Amino acid sequence: MRQLRAEIGAVARADGSAVFEMGNTKVIAAVYGPREVQNKSQLSNDQALVRCEYTMANFSTGDRKRKPKGDRRSTEISLVIRQTMEACILTNLMPRSQIDIYVQVLQADGGTRSACINAATLALADAGIPMRDLVTSCSAGYLNSTPLLDLNYLEDSAGGPDVTVGFLPKLDKVTLLQMDAKLPVDIVENVMQLAIEGCKAIATYIREVLLENTKQLEYRRGP
Ligand code: UDP
Repeated sequence: MRQLRAEIGAVARADGSAVFEMGNTKVIAAVYGPREVQNKSQLSNDQALVRCEYTMANFSTGDRKRKPKGDRRSTEISLVIRQTMEACILTNLMPRSQIDIYVQVLQADGGTRSACINAATLALADAGIPMRDLVTSCSAGYLNSTPLLDLNYLEDSAGGPDVTVGFLPKLDKVTLLQMDAKLPVDIVENVMQLAIEGCKAIATYIREVLLENTKQLEYRRGP
């Protein structure tokens, strides 16, 4: 697993925000809401509407990056992150409202969708949005007959298969599973288990960060 670093409250105007780093991959998440639904035709009387936008900053990659926004890859990743976060937010507690999650890649070195899910979890917790668990994400791959955890760009682009998992650690449930390329069936289990171990380690780290943040808030508030 690459080195993890997180920082809560990076965007002052947002209701919740966080920066999350996995090695050289660095992303920022900002959450607004629950707030009034902008497009009334999307309003639901039973649950909150969750929206998500994934973008890559123009400077986030070398000259490999083509379009910063609106391409098929960004649309797919926005959808995947939205579905993952929606599965852990208690949307039924906030009917007739909207939650907006913006995630932007500042520095890309593989595993940006995982880093964005981890940043979004922290930002949602910072915004005080009720969740059933802290969803975390990590990828794992298979290269030269060796399972690899948390691939960087070089490992990812070597052509081997890679699996991205979203995991609810307290409920012990997988909520996201994406796979690039084919993997023999007997190895899938191994690689997936490795990614789940990664998710568990990230969950431990995220809990520590949240606890430390709460302590700081308490300290600043005084006795
Ligand atoms: N990448 C890039 N330019 C792009 C898209 C991706 O340089 O337009 C790099 C970036 O480092 C990214 C990696 O390719 O992290 C792998 O991209 P993938 O689509 O597998 O998603 P990710 O692993 O970031 O979730």
